[in-house]
Amino acid sequence: MDIVLQVRELKKYYGEVKAVDGISFAVQRGRCFGLLGPNGAGKTTTIEMLEGLVEADSGDIFYHGKKASKTDFRQLGVQFQQTALQDFLTVKETLELFAAFYPEPADLQDLMSLCDLTELLDRDHRKLSGGQRQRLLLALALVNKPQIIFLDEPTTGLDPHARRNFWQLIEQIKQQGRTVILTTHYMDEAEQLCDDILIMDKGRIIALDTPEALLNQHFSGALIRLPDRGQQPQLPAHASISRSGGYLQISSPDVEQTLTMLLAQGISLEGLFIKSANLDDLFLKLTGHSLAT
Ligand code: ATP
Repeated sequence: MDIVLQVRELKKYYGEVKAVDGISFAVQRGRCFGLLGPNGAGKTTTIEMLEGLVEADSGDIFYHGKKASKTDFRQLGVQFQQTALQDFLTVKETLELFAAFYPEPADLQDLMSLCDLTELLDRDHRKLSGGQRQRLLLALALVNKPQIIFLDEPTTGLDPHARRNFWQLIEQIKQQGRTVILTTHYMDEAEQLCDDILIMDKGRIIALDTPEALLNQHFSGALIRLPDRGQQPQLPAHASISRSGGYLQISSPDVEQTLTMLLAQGISLEGLFIKSANLDDLFLKLTGHSLAT
């Protein structure tokens, strides 16, 4: 296993608030590592420590097996949610400006074609659509030829088409053997892109594994959803029940047996919905609320 980033017992408190409370994890080369959690979970604080923008109270960060240094931080690629760009510059001029900050910048032609900007080079960056702007911000994050790239909610506010375009771009970056660390509020995005997922809540890690392993760990069989009418059903062994958003949700390894039992108890199956568990269900189970809300 080729570990590019390792974090040990990282902590950051703001007064009484335990923003990050002793987290440890490792990120492998060429993977997309998703950092998820509800608002205030500690994701931004974690990322800021990994990027060298905020100093940890305690704990260690290692890049490529060595304690993180200023040189490591300079070599990261960072796409912030908001980046202030110089007014009146075109896409091309903006890229050239950023490239001038580095002694050995990426080949701008390559970057423009990777990020699908070739048609937009002479456009004032303030006239870009949401998706086009995100592609420019990504190109800027790649200008220093980083091997590790941090993307902070890169598709927030984009329409479905632009989001899918952006996902393809991230896949391409991964195929180049680079490592992506992504925060997102979209579970479908995490499911689509992330090879590994870390879910934080209240400064601590509550789940860490591949999406498949996490879903297998927490769900078996399928999810049966019924409108919540206050039913109190008896369930087969190994089935579990939760209630949220007006629904009663039963996770059961044996759907047929569960439905038979519900019917035998006179519980109405009107409005029944059966589905396989996804990351949103996992998030709900672990944190008690949906990430989307
Ligand atoms: P969101 O999804 O809303 O961005 P998050 O998971 O990124 O949330 P953080 O921004 O890391 O969470 O915040 C974690 C906790 O630390 C919150 O309670 C927040 O109010 C607190 N916090 C973060 N930065 C500071 C700061 N500079 N001073 C005081 N408290 C802070």
